[in-house]
Amino acid sequence: KMENATLKAELGRATWRFLHTMVARFPEKPTPEDRKTLETFIHLFGRLYPCGDCARHFRQLLAKYPPQTSSRNSAAGWLCFAHNVVNERLHKPVFDCNNIGDFYDCGCGDEDKKGGK
Ligand code: FAD
Repeated sequence: KMENATLKAELGRATWRFLHTMVARFPEKPTPEDRKTLETFIHLFGRLYPCGDCARHFRQLLAKYPPQTSSRNSAAGWLCFAHNVVNERLHKPVFDCNNIGDFYDCGCGDEDKKGGK
């Protein structure tokens, strides 16, 4: 099948949104198990992301810049940085990671405050 840049970009946008929203809900003070879970997830993601070239580049990025999981802030900061590495490679504007604050809202309401995720 032929490459379809529109579909590839659509998948990329949806995936980045999911990933940034996921780390925005990562615990502020993760347990060792939380940390292992995120790290494992990111490495498995790099194996399974359906755009093969994207996944290959992403695995190289992971080897050079291992995922940071010590806190929500470090995880969100790392992912923002990693997305910027991809942006640069694709000649896209770099995102100011200081502005990531409340940018990614899962719309899950305040279940967070009741102890859920
Ligand atoms: P996207 O990069 O999809 O970003 C969506 C929105 O996120 C932006 O509009 C902005 O509001 C926000 N944003 C931008 N930068 C950041 C940041 N650093 N942190 C937080 N939020 C940010 N496409 C290819 O053609 N080749 C590839 O090799 C490739 N590799 C990829 C690897 C991965 C892991 C992923 C998830 C996607 C990859 N893509 C690749 C897709 C590509 O990154 C874009 O998703 C796609 O081109 C659509 O770009 P976009 O301009 O809509 O913005």
